[in-house]
Amino acid sequence: MMYNLAIIGGGPAGYTAAQMAQNAGWKVVLFEGDTLGGTCLNVGCIPTKTLLYSVKQYHNAMLANKYGISVENIAFDLKKMQQRKQKVVRKLVAGIKASLKDCTIVGAIAKVVSRTDDKVVLEAEGEQYEAEKLLICTGSNNFVPPIEGISDNPFVLDSTSALNLQEIPQSMVIVGGGVIGMEFATLFGQLGTKITIVEAMQDILPQLDQDVVDLLKEKYVKQGIEILTNTKVERIDRNIVFTNNEQKPQIDAEKILVCVGRRANLRGLEALEDIELERGAIKVNDFMQTNLKNVYAAGDVTGKIMLAHVASRQAEVAVGRMLKHIPLQRIAYNAIPSVVYTNPEIASVGLTEKQVSDFYKEMEGIDAYEQKGGGEAFYEVKSLPMSFSGRFVAENEGENGLCKVIVDKRNQTILGVHAVGNPASEFIAVASFAVRMGYTISEFKQVVFPHPTVSEILRETIMAI
Ligand code: NAD
Repeated sequence: MMYNLAIIGGGPAGYTAAQMAQNAGWKVVLFEGDTLGGTCLNVGCIPTKTLLYSVKQYHNAMLANKYGISVENIAFDLKKMQQRKQKVVRKLVAGIKASLKDCTIVGAIAKVVSRTDDKVVLEAEGEQYEAEKLLICTGSNNFVPPIEGISDNPFVLDSTSALNLQEIPQSMVIVGGGVIGMEFATLFGQLGTKITIVEAMQDILPQLDQDVVDLLKEKYVKQGIEILTNTKVERIDRNIVFTNNEQKPQIDAEKILVCVGRRANLRGLEALEDIELERGAIKVNDFMQTNLKNVYAAGDVTGKIMLAHVASRQAEVAVGRMLKHIPLQRIAYNAIPSVVYTNPEIASVGLTEKQVSDFYKEMEGIDAYEQKGGGEAFYEVKSLPMSFSGRFVAENEGENGLCKVIVDKRNQTILGVHAVGNPASEFIAVASFAVRMGYTISEFKQVVFPHPTVSEILRETIMAI
Protein backbone atom coordinates (compact mmCIF):
# COMPACT_ATOMS: atom_id res chain seq x y z
CA MET A 1 0.00 0.00 0.00
CA MET A 2 1.17 3.53 -0.73
CA TYR A 3 0.73 5.75 2.35
CA ASN A 4 0.25 9.48 1.99
CA LEU A 5 2.56 10.11 4.91
CA ALA A 6 5.19 8.14 6.80
CA ILE A 7 6.27 9.52 10.17
CA ILE A 8 9.38 8.33 11.99
CA GLY A 9 9.08 8.92 15.73
CA GLY A 10 6.04 8.90 18.01
CA GLY A 11 6.88 11.77 20.35
CA PRO A 12 4.94 15.06 20.59
CA ALA A 13 5.88 16.00 17.00
CA GLY A 14 5.16 12.57 15.52
CA TYR A 15 1.87 11.85 17.25
CA THR A 16 0.52 15.38 16.71
CA ALA A 17 1.30 15.11 13.00
CA ALA A 18 -0.25 11.65 12.80
CA GLN A 19 -3.46 12.81 14.52
CA MET A 20 -3.80 15.79 12.20
CA ALA A 21 -3.08 13.86 9.01
CA GLN A 22 -5.37 10.92 9.87
CA ASN A 23 -8.17 13.35 10.77
CA ALA A 24 -7.80 14.88 7.31
CA GLY A 25 -8.38 11.42 5.83
CA TRP A 26 -4.77 10.63 4.95
CA LYS A 27 -3.31 7.15 5.06
CA VAL A 28 -0.58 7.45 7.69
CA VAL A 29 2.07 5.04 8.94
CA LEU A 30 3.94 5.95 12.11
CA PHE A 31 7.10 4.14 13.27
CA GLU A 32 8.06 4.16 16.93
CA GLY A 33 10.96 1.96 18.03
CA ASP A 34 10.34 2.45 21.74
CA THR A 35 7.12 3.70 23.36
CA LEU A 36 4.57 6.11 21.92
CA GLY A 37 4.88 9.53 23.55
CA GLY A 38 8.63 9.82 23.02
CA THR A 39 11.08 11.36 25.44
CA CYS A 40 8.61 13.90 26.83
CA LEU A 41 6.01 11.41 27.90
CA ASN A 42 8.18 8.44 28.85
CA VAL A 43 11.47 9.77 30.20
CA GLY A 44 11.15 13.56 30.19
CA CYS A 45 8.50 16.16 30.95
CA ILE A 46 5.72 13.95 32.32
CA PRO A 47 7.64 11.55 34.62
CA THR A 48 9.76 14.43 35.93
CA LYS A 49 6.75 16.59 36.68
CA THR A 50 4.96 13.66 38.31
CA LEU A 51 7.88 13.02 40.66
CA LEU A 52 8.33 16.76 41.23
CA TYR A 53 4.70 16.99 42.27
CA SER A 54 5.21 14.25 44.88
CA VAL A 55 8.27 16.11 46.12
CA LYS A 56 6.27 19.34 46.31
CA GLN A 57 3.60 17.58 48.39
CA TYR A 58 6.30 16.31 50.75
CA HIS A 59 7.86 19.75 50.96
CA ASN A 60 4.45 21.36 51.59
CA ALA A 61 3.73 18.85 54.35
CA MET A 62 6.95 19.92 56.06
CA LEU A 63 5.86 23.55 55.79
CA ALA A 64 2.25 22.85 56.83
CA ASN A 65 2.82 24.39 60.23
CA LYS A 66 3.17 27.80 58.57
CA TYR A 67 -0.43 27.44 57.42
CA GLY A 68 -1.78 26.37 60.80
CA ILE A 69 -1.77 22.64 60.10
CA SER A 70 0.09 20.08 62.20
CA VAL A 71 1.42 17.06 60.39
CA GLU A 72 3.41 14.39 62.15
CA ASN A 73 5.67 11.63 60.92
CA ILE A 74 6.18 13.12 57.50
CA ALA A 75 8.00 10.69 55.25
CA PHE A 76 8.23 9.88 51.58
CA ASP A 77 8.12 6.51 49.90
CA LEU A 78 10.18 6.60 46.72
CA LYS A 79 8.87 3.23 45.60
CA LYS A 80 5.28 4.50 45.69
CA MET A 81 6.30 7.71 43.97
CA GLN A 82 7.91 5.68 41.19
CA GLN A 83 4.82 3.46 40.89
CA ARG A 84 2.57 6.51 40.57
CA LYS A 85 4.91 7.95 37.95
CA GLN A 86 4.59 4.75 35.89
CA LYS A 87 0.80 4.81 36.25
CA VAL A 88 0.60 8.41 34.99
CA VAL A 89 2.85 7.61 32.04
CA ARG A 90 0.88 4.46 31.15
CA LYS A 91 -2.40 6.36 31.21
CA LEU A 92 -1.15 9.10 28.92
CA VAL A 93 0.51 6.67 26.50
CA ALA A 94 -2.78 4.76 26.27
CA GLY A 95 -4.56 8.04 25.49
CA ILE A 96 -2.20 8.73 22.60
CA LYS A 97 -2.58 5.22 21.26
CA ALA A 98 -6.37 5.57 21.34
CA SER A 99 -6.20 8.89 19.50
CA LEU A 100 -4.31 7.26 16.60
CA LYS A 101 -6.92 4.63 15.77
CA ASP A 102 -6.98 5.39 12.04
CA CYS A 103 -3.23 5.33 11.70
CA THR A 104 -0.94 2.32 11.12
CA ILE A 105 1.48 2.15 14.02
CA VAL A 106 4.62 0.08 13.55
CA GLY A 107 6.38 -0.65 16.84
CA ALA A 108 9.88 -0.89 15.43
CA ILE A 109 12.82 1.26 14.41
CA ALA A 110 12.44 2.46 10.83
CA LYS A 111 15.21 2.97 8.34
CA VAL A 112 14.93 4.96 5.14
CA VAL A 113 15.82 2.71 2.20
CA SER A 114 15.44 5.08 -0.74
CA ARG A 115 13.81 8.34 -1.79
CA THR A 116 12.66 10.03 -4.97
CA ASP A 117 10.66 13.26 -5.21
CA ASP A 118 7.36 11.37 -5.10
CA LYS A 119 8.15 8.27 -3.06
CA VAL A 120 9.98 7.31 0.10
CA VAL A 121 10.68 3.66 0.91
CA LEU A 122 11.23 2.64 4.53
CA GLU A 123 12.03 -0.61 6.22
CA ALA A 124 11.20 -1.84 9.70
CA GLU A 125 11.77 -5.38 10.97
CA GLY A 126 12.25 -6.70 7.42
CA GLU A 127 8.99 -5.18 6.05
CA GLN A 128 8.99 -2.41 3.47
CA TYR A 129 6.63 0.59 3.50
CA GLU A 130 6.06 3.21 0.79
CA ALA A 131 4.81 6.74 1.29
CA GLU A 132 4.45 9.89 -0.77
CA LYS A 133 5.85 12.09 1.98
CA LEU A 134 8.10 11.63 4.99
CA LEU A 135 8.05 13.55 8.27
CA ILE A 136 11.13 12.99 10.43
CA CYS A 137 10.39 13.32 14.16
CA THR A 138 13.27 11.26 15.56
CA GLY A 139 13.92 13.62 18.49
CA SER A 140 17.21 13.92 20.34
CA ASN A 141 19.55 11.98 22.63
CA ASN A 142 21.40 13.02 25.77
CA PHE A 143 24.74 14.50 24.81
CA VAL A 144 27.69 12.79 26.48
CA PRO A 145 30.59 15.27 26.62
CA PRO A 146 34.09 13.95 25.90
CA ILE A 147 35.21 13.93 29.53
CA GLU A 148 37.67 11.28 30.68
CA GLY A 149 36.06 8.71 32.93
CA ILE A 150 32.44 9.54 32.02
CA SER A 151 31.63 6.48 29.90
CA ASP A 152 30.80 3.11 31.44
CA ASN A 153 31.02 4.65 34.88
CA PRO A 154 28.38 3.17 37.25
CA PHE A 155 28.36 6.39 39.31
CA VAL A 156 27.39 8.53 36.30
CA LEU A 157 23.71 9.04 35.49
CA ASP A 158 21.86 10.72 32.66
CA SER A 159 18.37 12.16 33.06
CA THR A 160 16.73 8.83 32.14
CA SER A 161 18.62 6.76 34.72
CA ALA A 162 18.25 9.52 37.34
CA LEU A 163 14.47 9.33 36.91
CA ASN A 164 14.51 5.62 37.70
CA LEU A 165 16.64 5.70 40.86
CA GLN A 166 15.11 3.46 43.51
CA GLU A 167 17.01 5.08 46.38
CA ILE A 168 17.73 8.70 47.13
CA PRO A 169 21.49 9.31 47.02
CA GLN A 170 23.06 11.14 49.95
CA SER A 171 25.00 13.39 47.62
CA MET A 172 24.99 14.22 43.92
CA VAL A 173 27.13 16.33 41.61
CA ILE A 174 25.05 17.73 38.76
CA VAL A 175 27.17 18.60 35.73
CA GLY A 176 25.28 21.30 33.80
CA GLY A 177 23.14 23.96 35.48
CA GLY A 178 20.61 24.11 32.64
CA VAL A 179 16.93 23.22 32.70
CA ILE A 180 17.39 19.51 33.40
CA GLY A 181 20.09 20.15 36.01
CA MET A 182 17.97 22.63 37.95
CA GLU A 183 14.86 20.44 37.85
CA PHE A 184 16.80 17.44 39.20
CA ALA A 185 18.45 19.67 41.82
CA THR A 186 14.90 20.47 42.96
CA LEU A 187 13.77 16.86 42.89
CA PHE A 188 16.66 15.33 44.82
CA GLY A 189 17.57 18.44 46.85
CA GLN A 190 14.10 18.62 48.40
CA LEU A 191 14.30 14.93 49.30
CA GLY A 192 17.51 15.55 51.22
CA THR A 193 20.33 14.87 48.75
CA LYS A 194 23.32 17.19 49.14
CA ILE A 195 23.57 18.80 45.70
CA THR A 196 26.57 20.44 44.02
CA ILE A 197 25.93 21.99 40.60
CA VAL A 198 28.87 22.42 38.26
CA GLU A 199 28.15 24.90 35.47
CA ALA A 200 30.68 25.90 32.80
CA MET A 201 29.11 29.30 32.04
CA GLN A 202 29.17 32.32 34.32
CA ASP A 203 25.72 31.47 35.65
CA ILE A 204 23.14 28.71 35.82
CA LEU A 205 20.22 28.80 33.36
CA PRO A 206 22.23 31.10 31.10
CA GLN A 207 19.41 31.53 28.57
CA LEU A 208 17.02 33.08 31.12
CA ASP A 209 16.59 36.62 32.37
CA GLN A 210 19.19 37.38 35.03
CA ASP A 211 16.76 38.80 37.61
CA VAL A 212 14.67 35.65 37.85
CA VAL A 213 17.77 33.45 37.92
CA ASP A 214 19.26 35.55 40.74
CA LEU A 215 16.15 35.14 42.86
CA LEU A 216 16.04 31.37 42.38
CA LYS A 217 19.75 31.04 43.02
CA GLU A 218 19.55 32.99 46.27
CA LYS A 219 16.81 30.67 47.47
CA TYR A 220 18.60 27.47 46.43
CA VAL A 221 21.89 28.54 48.01
CA LYS A 222 20.00 29.23 51.27
CA GLN A 223 18.59 25.70 51.07
CA GLY A 224 22.13 24.33 50.96
CA ILE A 225 22.54 23.69 47.23
CA GLU A 226 26.09 24.47 46.20
CA ILE A 227 26.45 26.19 42.83
CA LEU A 228 29.87 26.34 41.18
CA THR A 229 29.81 28.55 38.09
CA ASN A 230 32.62 29.18 35.56
CA THR A 231 33.62 25.65 36.44
CA LYS A 232 34.54 22.92 34.00
CA VAL A 233 34.79 19.23 34.70
CA GLU A 234 38.27 18.04 33.71
CA ARG A 235 37.86 14.36 34.40
CA ILE A 236 35.86 11.91 36.45
CA ASP A 237 37.37 9.05 38.38
CA ARG A 238 34.73 6.65 39.68
CA ASN A 239 32.65 8.90 41.99
CA ILE A 240 35.06 11.83 42.07
CA VAL A 241 34.66 14.85 39.80
CA PHE A 242 37.84 16.83 39.11
CA THR A 243 37.28 20.46 38.11
CA ASN A 244 39.28 23.54 37.11
CA ASN A 245 37.82 25.41 40.11
CA GLU A 246 40.67 26.29 42.46
CA GLN A 247 38.38 26.38 45.50
CA LYS A 248 36.81 23.03 44.62
CA PRO A 249 39.27 21.04 42.51
CA GLN A 250 37.59 17.77 43.41
CA ILE A 251 34.14 16.78 44.60
CA ASP A 252 33.09 13.31 45.53
CA ALA A 253 29.48 12.27 45.54
CA GLU A 254 27.37 9.14 45.60
CA LYS A 255 26.04 9.92 42.11
CA ILE A 256 27.06 12.18 39.23
CA LEU A 257 24.30 13.40 36.96
CA VAL A 258 25.43 14.70 33.57
CA CYS A 259 22.96 16.95 31.75
CA VAL A 260 24.78 19.23 29.34
CA GLY A 261 22.30 19.35 26.50
CA ARG A 262 20.86 17.06 23.86
CA ARG A 263 21.73 16.32 20.23
CA ALA A 264 19.52 15.54 17.23
CA ASN A 265 18.94 11.83 16.60
CA LEU A 266 19.66 11.00 12.95
CA ARG A 267 19.54 7.22 13.29
CA GLY A 268 17.94 5.41 10.37
CA LEU A 269 18.31 8.37 8.01
CA GLU A 270 21.67 7.38 6.50
CA ALA A 271 20.10 6.82 3.05
CA LEU A 272 19.07 10.50 2.93
CA GLU A 273 22.67 11.42 2.27
CA ASP A 274 21.77 14.71 0.54
CA ILE A 275 19.69 16.03 3.40
CA GLU A 276 21.03 19.38 4.60
CA LEU A 277 22.13 19.62 8.21
CA GLU A 278 22.84 22.66 10.36
CA ARG A 279 24.92 22.25 13.52
CA GLY A 280 24.21 18.51 13.52
CA ALA A 281 20.43 18.90 13.17
CA ILE A 282 18.11 18.74 10.14
CA LYS A 283 17.81 22.14 8.49
CA VAL A 284 14.22 23.18 7.84
CA ASN A 285 12.52 26.29 6.49
CA ASP A 286 9.61 28.11 8.16
CA PHE A 287 7.23 25.38 6.99
CA MET A 288 9.38 22.54 8.33
CA GLN A 289 10.46 21.50 4.82
CA THR A 290 13.94 20.10 4.38
CA ASN A 291 15.93 20.62 1.18
CA LEU A 292 14.46 17.31 -0.12
CA LYS A 293 11.13 17.92 -1.85
CA ASN A 294 8.87 15.47 -0.01
CA VAL A 295 10.78 15.29 3.29
CA TYR A 296 9.79 17.37 6.32
CA ALA A 297 11.14 17.40 9.89
CA ALA A 298 9.71 18.55 13.22
CA GLY A 299 10.76 18.51 16.87
CA ASP A 300 14.17 18.21 18.53
CA VAL A 301 15.71 16.70 15.37
CA THR A 302 15.52 20.20 13.81
CA GLY A 303 17.66 21.57 16.65
CA LYS A 304 15.51 24.73 16.95
CA ILE A 305 14.09 25.01 20.46
CA MET A 306 14.07 21.60 22.15
CA LEU A 307 10.68 21.79 23.85
CA ALA A 308 7.68 19.47 23.48
CA HIS A 309 5.26 22.32 22.78
CA VAL A 310 7.54 23.62 20.01
CA ALA A 311 7.69 20.10 18.55
CA SER A 312 3.92 19.75 18.38
CA ARG A 313 3.47 23.21 16.87
CA GLN A 314 6.17 22.44 14.28
CA ALA A 315 4.28 19.25 13.43
CA GLU A 316 1.05 21.22 12.93
CA VAL A 317 2.83 23.63 10.61
CA ALA A 318 4.43 20.77 8.65
CA VAL A 319 1.18 18.87 8.14
CA GLY A 320 -0.71 22.13 7.46
CA ARG A 321 1.76 22.79 4.67
CA MET A 322 1.49 19.24 3.27
CA LEU A 323 -2.31 19.36 3.32
CA LYS A 324 -2.24 22.85 1.81
CA HIS A 325 -5.06 23.75 4.21
CA ILE A 326 -3.13 26.39 6.06
CA PRO A 327 -0.11 26.73 3.82
CA LEU A 328 1.20 30.03 5.09
CA GLN A 329 1.23 29.38 8.82
CA ARG A 330 4.62 29.73 10.44
CA ILE A 331 5.80 29.37 14.00
CA ALA A 332 6.26 32.50 16.04
CA TYR A 333 9.56 31.51 17.64
CA ASN A 334 9.60 34.89 19.43
CA ALA A 335 6.53 33.91 21.45
CA ILE A 336 7.41 30.44 22.72
CA PRO A 337 6.79 30.19 26.46
CA SER A 338 9.20 28.18 28.57
CA VAL A 339 9.00 26.92 32.11
CA VAL A 340 11.64 25.57 34.45
CA TYR A 341 9.92 23.38 37.05
CA THR A 342 12.02 24.37 39.99
CA ASN A 343 10.30 25.28 43.26
CA PRO A 344 9.47 28.13 42.80
CA GLU A 345 8.85 27.80 39.09
CA ILE A 346 10.35 30.08 36.50
CA ALA A 347 8.24 30.95 33.46
CA SER A 348 9.10 33.24 30.62
CA VAL A 349 8.28 34.28 27.09
CA GLY A 350 9.94 36.60 24.61
CA LEU A 351 13.23 38.39 24.99
CA THR A 352 15.32 38.79 28.13
CA GLU A 353 16.49 42.26 29.13
CA LYS A 354 20.00 41.38 27.95
CA GLN A 355 18.73 40.24 24.55
CA VAL A 356 16.74 43.47 24.12
CA SER A 357 19.69 45.63 25.11
CA ASP A 358 22.09 43.63 22.86
CA PHE A 359 19.63 44.02 19.99
CA TYR A 360 19.47 47.81 20.35
CA LYS A 361 23.24 48.11 20.87
CA GLU A 362 23.79 46.23 17.63
CA MET A 363 21.11 48.10 15.70
CA GLU A 364 22.17 51.57 16.84
CA GLY A 365 25.90 50.98 17.24
CA ILE A 366 27.30 51.13 20.75
CA ASP A 367 28.23 54.87 20.64
CA ALA A 368 24.83 56.05 19.37
CA TYR A 369 23.16 53.73 21.91
CA GLU A 370 25.05 55.36 24.78
CA GLN A 371 24.59 58.90 23.42
CA LYS A 372 20.81 58.43 23.22
CA GLY A 373 20.75 57.49 26.89
CA GLY A 374 21.37 53.72 26.87
CA GLY A 375 18.64 51.13 27.33
CA GLU A 376 16.16 53.58 28.86
CA ALA A 377 15.85 55.34 25.51
CA PHE A 378 14.69 52.18 23.76
CA TYR A 379 12.83 49.99 26.19
CA GLU A 380 11.16 50.08 29.57
CA VAL A 381 11.46 47.45 32.27
CA LYS A 382 9.01 47.04 35.13
CA SER A 383 9.37 44.46 37.89
CA LEU A 384 7.00 43.85 40.78
CA PRO A 385 7.32 41.41 43.64
CA MET A 386 4.84 38.54 43.48
CA SER A 387 3.51 39.73 46.83
CA PHE A 388 1.52 42.36 44.91
CA SER A 389 -0.87 39.49 44.18
CA GLY A 390 -3.17 38.77 47.14
CA ARG A 391 -3.59 35.15 46.10
CA PHE A 392 0.18 34.67 46.01
CA VAL A 393 0.49 36.02 49.56
CA ALA A 394 -2.37 33.79 50.74
CA GLU A 395 -0.76 30.66 49.31
CA ASN A 396 2.98 31.27 49.61
CA GLU A 397 3.67 32.03 53.26
CA GLY A 398 6.98 33.81 53.68
CA GLU A 399 7.89 33.37 50.01
CA ASN A 400 8.86 35.97 47.47
CA GLY A 401 8.87 36.07 43.70
CA LEU A 402 9.08 38.45 40.81
CA CYS A 403 7.26 39.43 37.63
CA LYS A 404 9.21 41.43 35.09
CA VAL A 405 7.87 42.94 31.87
CA ILE A 406 9.95 44.50 29.09
CA VAL A 407 8.21 46.90 26.72
CA ASP A 408 9.47 48.40 23.45
CA LYS A 409 9.35 52.21 23.72
CA ARG A 410 8.93 52.67 19.95
CA ASN A 411 5.54 51.01 19.75
CA GLN A 412 4.63 50.06 23.34
CA THR A 413 4.51 46.32 22.53
CA ILE A 414 5.47 43.67 25.06
CA LEU A 415 8.86 42.17 24.24
CA GLY A 416 9.31 39.82 27.17
CA VAL A 417 7.76 38.58 30.40
CA HIS A 418 9.76 36.74 33.07
CA ALA A 419 8.38 35.42 36.32
CA VAL A 420 9.59 33.41 39.27
CA GLY A 421 7.10 32.22 41.88
CA ASN A 422 4.36 29.59 42.07
CA PRO A 423 2.47 28.98 39.85
CA ALA A 424 4.10 31.14 37.18
CA SER A 425 3.71 28.29 34.66
CA GLU A 426 -0.06 28.70 34.81
CA PHE A 427 -0.22 32.29 33.65
CA ILE A 428 2.66 32.56 31.19
CA ALA A 429 0.33 31.50 28.33
CA VAL A 430 -1.51 34.84 28.71
CA ALA A 431 1.78 36.66 28.24
CA SER A 432 2.63 34.44 25.24
CA PHE A 433 -0.65 35.42 23.66
CA ALA A 434 0.14 39.11 24.13
CA VAL A 435 3.65 38.73 22.70
CA ARG A 436 2.42 36.58 19.80
CA MET A 437 -0.32 39.04 18.85
CA GLY A 438 1.93 42.07 19.29
CA TYR A 439 -0.42 43.69 21.81
CA THR A 440 0.48 47.13 23.09
CA ILE A 441 0.32 47.72 26.80
CA SER A 442 -2.76 49.94 26.43
CA GLU A 443 -4.54 47.04 24.68
CA PHE A 444 -3.40 44.63 27.38
CA LYS A 445 -4.64 46.96 30.12
CA GLN A 446 -8.21 46.52 28.86
CA VAL A 447 -8.15 42.80 29.66
CA VAL A 448 -9.86 41.88 32.93
CA PHE A 449 -8.16 39.24 35.07
CA PRO A 450 -10.08 37.16 37.63
CA HIS A 451 -9.53 38.11 41.27
CA PRO A 452 -7.93 36.74 43.32
CA THR A 453 -5.47 34.91 41.10
CA VAL A 454 -1.70 34.91 40.93
CA SER A 455 -2.07 35.87 37.24
CA GLU A 456 -3.08 39.35 38.39
CA ILE A 457 0.59 40.04 39.02
CA LEU A 458 1.03 40.23 35.26
CA ARG A 459 -1.71 42.84 34.92
CA GLU A 460 -0.40 44.76 37.96
CA THR A 461 3.09 44.90 36.45
CA ILE A 462 1.78 46.12 33.12
CA MET A 463 -0.54 48.64 34.81
CA ALA A 464 2.54 50.07 36.54
CA ILE A 465 4.17 50.97 33.19
P1 NAD B 1 20.59 22.96 28.60
O1 NAD B 1 21.15 23.40 27.32
O2 NAD B 1 19.34 23.58 29.12
O3 NAD B 1 21.68 23.13 29.76
C1 NAD B 1 22.95 22.53 29.71
C2 NAD B 1 23.87 23.33 30.63
O4 NAD B 1 25.09 22.62 30.74
C3 NAD B 1 24.19 24.72 30.10
O5 NAD B 1 23.95 25.66 31.10
C4 NAD B 1 25.68 24.62 29.72
O6 NAD B 1 26.37 25.82 29.91
C5 NAD B 1 26.17 23.55 30.71
N1 NAD B 1 27.34 22.81 30.25
C6 NAD B 1 27.62 22.36 29.01
N2 NAD B 1 28.78 21.65 29.01
C7 NAD B 1 29.23 21.64 30.30
C8 NAD B 1 30.35 21.05 30.96
N3 NAD B 1 31.24 20.29 30.29
N4 NAD B 1 30.51 21.26 32.30
C9 NAD B 1 29.58 22.01 32.98
N5 NAD B 1 28.51 22.58 32.40
C10 NAD B 1 28.32 22.39 31.09
O7 NAD B 1 20.43 21.38 28.45
P2 NAD B 1 19.71 20.32 29.40
O8 NAD B 1 19.48 20.88 30.75
O9 NAD B 1 20.53 19.09 29.28
O10 NAD B 1 18.33 20.12 28.68
C11 NAD B 1 18.27 19.56 27.35
C12 NAD B 1 17.08 20.07 26.59
O11 NAD B 1 15.88 19.60 27.16
C13 NAD B 1 17.04 21.58 26.58
O12 NAD B 1 16.77 22.03 25.29
C14 NAD B 1 15.90 21.90 27.51
O13 NAD B 1 15.23 23.10 27.17
C15 NAD B 1 14.99 20.68 27.37
N6 NAD B 1 14.22 20.49 28.60
C16 NAD B 1 13.20 21.35 28.88
C17 NAD B 1 12.50 21.23 30.06
C18 NAD B 1 11.39 22.19 30.36
O14 NAD B 1 10.94 22.87 29.46
N7 NAD B 1 10.94 22.32 31.59
C19 NAD B 1 12.86 20.26 30.98
C20 NAD B 1 13.91 19.42 30.68
C21 NAD B 1 14.59 19.54 29.48
